[in-house]
Amino acid sequence: MQRKINKIAPKVRRWVYGFGGGAADGDASMRDLLGGKGANLAEMSALGLPVPPGFTVSTEVCAHCDANGGAYPDGLEEEVAAALARVESLAGARFGDPENPLPVSVRSGARASMPGMMDTVLNLGLNDATAAGLAARTGDARFAWDSYRRFVQMYAEVVLGADRYRFEDLLALAREEKGAALDTELDADDLRRLVAAFKAAAREEVGRDFPDDPGEQLWGAIGAVLRSWRGERAVTYRRLHDIPDAWGTAVNIQAMVFGNMGADCATGVAFTRDPSTGENRFYGEFLANAQGEDVVSGVRTPPPLAAAAAGPDGVSMEAAMPDAFRQLVETGRRLEAHYRDMQDIEFTVQRGRLYMLQTRAGKRAPAAAIRIAVEMAEAGTIGREEALLRVDPGALDGLLHPVIDPAAERRPIATGLPASPGAVGGAAVFSAGEAERRAAAGEAVILVRRETSPEDIHGMYAARGVLTARGGMTSHAAVVARGMGRPCVCGAGRIRVDAEARRFEAGGVTVEEGDWITIDGAAGQVMPGRVATLEPELSGEFATLMAWADGARRMGVRANAETAQDARKAREFGAEGIGLCRTEHMFFEAERIAAAREMILADGEERRRAALAKILPMQRADFAELFRAMDGRPVTIRLLDPPLHEFLPQDDGELAEMARAMGFSAEAAARRARELREANPMLGHRGCRLAISHPEIAETQARAIFEAAAAVAAEGGPAPVPEVMVPLAATGAEVEILKALVDRTAAAVAAETGAPIDYLVGAMIELPRAALRAGEIAGPAAFFSFGTNDLTQTAFGVSRDDAGAFLRVYRERGILEKDPFVTLDADGVGELVTAGVERGRAARPDLKIGICGEHGGDPASIEFCERAGLDYVSCSPYRVPIARLAAAQAAIRARG
Ligand code: PEP
Ligand code: MG
Repeated sequence: MQRKINKIAPKVRRWVYGFGGGAADGDASMRDLLGGKGANLAEMSALGLPVPPGFTVSTEVCAHCDANGGAYPDGLEEEVAAALARVESLAGARFGDPENPLPVSVRSGARASMPGMMDTVLNLGLNDATAAGLAARTGDARFAWDSYRRFVQMYAEVVLGADRYRFEDLLALAREEKGAALDTELDADDLRRLVAAFKAAAREEVGRDFPDDPGEQLWGAIGAVLRSWRGERAVTYRRLHDIPDAWGTAVNIQAMVFGNMGADCATGVAFTRDPSTGENRFYGEFLANAQGEDVVSGVRTPPPLAAAAAGPDGVSMEAAMPDAFRQLVETGRRLEAHYRDMQDIEFTVQRGRLYMLQTRAGKRAPAAAIRIAVEMAEAGTIGREEALLRVDPGALDGLLHPVIDPAAERRPIATGLPASPGAVGGAAVFSAGEAERRAAAGEAVILVRRETSPEDIHGMYAARGVLTARGGMTSHAAVVARGMGRPCVCGAGRIRVDAEARRFEAGGVTVEEGDWITIDGAAGQVMPGRVATLEPELSGEFATLMAWADGARRMGVRANAETAQDARKAREFGAEGIGLCRTEHMFFEAERIAAAREMILADGEERRRAALAKILPMQRADFAELFRAMDGRPVTIRLLDPPLHEFLPQDDGELAEMARAMGFSAEAAARRARELREANPMLGHRGCRLAISHPEIAETQARAIFEAAAAVAAEGGPAPVPEVMVPLAATGAEVEILKALVDRTAAAVAAETGAPIDYLVGAMIELPRAALRAGEIAGPAAFFSFGTNDLTQTAFGVSRDDAGAFLRVYRERGILEKDPFVTLDADGVGELVTAGVERGRAARPDLKIGICGEHGGDPASIEFCERAGLDYVSCSPYRVPIARLAAAQAAIRARG
């Protein structure tokens, strides 16, 4: 597309930027200053697309107001007046003029898209006189009063803070009195009466008259949009999406074009590709004779744009207004080519003429993100590296969700729109609060709402899936659920939700709160009860993208796994080895824990050896399974690291049973348990301390490892590569002692089997002293693995088990930006990691270094690991694809 940017009036310091009439003060690169919406309106204007004229009050004004107790900067009023005069001359109408009025829209627009989170006012500038003028000029009194009615309602809610339901109720009453099903059946007189009733209601609610002066209305709306940046909804959204508070919002003031002027008018939303699947087809929804808020609010379920997608009623934009439809498709193609990304477009058709109100990179479901990125790269529109950077690694989580088992019987009681893919079951709940409460108690829930509003966002986040009775693919519920990767079925018109009574009814079935339902967000179906689900196939574009990621990344990706099943899953997801096998987790099964307890409670080496004799064959079999599953790839096995309290008998019954099994008296067993009880188990007799004080435990484990490796090697496949890891070391001496023990055991097993096994001994670096003394530890250790869970715990002095109570407050107060147990604290803990890497490699240049704390699967932490020069990350099997992509992105960014 030709690009010509015509500057209106260059000026050094300004607060307001104009656009429209084929020119603009800004362009798409200025989103920090103009917000996404303002920057793209400027870009579209300068490209000569049909954009109603307007201007943007920059984000710097928001920042200025925040810093100055809400006061506007000097000069703003004059700049707004000048920009408004330019809009008037382009639109050929005057703001507030009773003869020839110019109604405007006032919309928020931050740097990052925050759909539905901030305020918008349409049709601003109307009062009794200008509404009459609009009626006279358009020859359409109904339209003028409809616009006025909408304005009073929106302004009263958004700017004056009146209760939305007051107006909804009055509107419903007016329909009832008229015997009308739809608002469109109300005539000019009905609407005129409603305006008066709305104003009276607003006066009653807020204690002052509704402002008639257009200037007062305008500044009221600008102030409200700026304040909405600090509103609870917006703050929550920013917290969930890591958007800094300091960014601020811009305010866009634009000449109104009307989609509600009659049957040849419409408003709608279009995506240049399908936002659920990524398929390259023009996609969207529209409403004839309506305004934008009607589409996104989800109150009416809108028909599709393309005739091919029309339902049984055959209604589509293509059929109803073919010329405008063709122009829209053409404009969408141009915009996609220009921005080189899928676009989400808002448009209005006024008397058959198309106007563009917004374009932005469209939000998309994870599967769609991958398909679009891969197809655009294959078409040569973008490069492979750009394709890799386009997919949010965290969002892959949504793809790894199950689908309904094709063999399972599906008995849908309702069908809606497939708004966000994934099949999921849970207890039905009918309010965001209940969703949060039950989810916090560990219950899986599906949030069921008539329609969602931005206030439901906490509940949607807490729920595993979302179901609504009303609303289209672009409704708030659909957009937010897709963004969060939650499966969602929208606009399931057959369900009747009674939120008060906490139940819904569909297809003759009543579902009460707490009853289990299953939703399939890919098919748009709702099923009662539990329906079997299957793990997804990770093929097609997903496999292509992952292959590109593997080609682009420098770091290896391993998995944390203890069972053969997890190890196989990890392999399927592309893990290149096991980075952490927590051997203590192998004892949590009921029959095994008894042997582990015997070992721990044993009051002498002889008893302990007896217990270990039971453990040896179990461990040998476990390790053999892991070696087989990993087929010659490295398997890092950590020597036992039990916080003792997790293994001690939990009550008198268990203690008595234990005593019987071990031939102790009940008193002796109780005494032994008391002796072992620790004030601070997280910092107690765990990790290599246990192996130092009871070497027979480490020796048994080492024997199990080498015997298993020898046995698997003898099966003829690739020889296993065990990497034996020493946990919670603080000193080089600890690692030296245990390395000597492992070496001795390996030699002994090799002598018995006649088949020596290649292996490494390394150390976990999970204590600050270990990081600082990494040079000393790298003497005996051939590899390091950063245990960032314990390293975070010990660096902060914050117990992993008890952090929940106060870390939340720390985040809310901004003391910590992120939970350091989720995203590595690069400033503090990260400095220990960097020191560990440098000092370790200085002592042993070929030292292999990885990470196996939870941070190994967190994209932001993986980025840190790349910068720190780690060789690999290790994470839970389900996060392996996320880690592969995040590692690729980190490598691409590091290459610059
Ligand atoms: C760690 O501390 O980061 C680690 C991986 O070990 P664990 O979580 O088992 O203590
Ligand atoms: Mg640890």
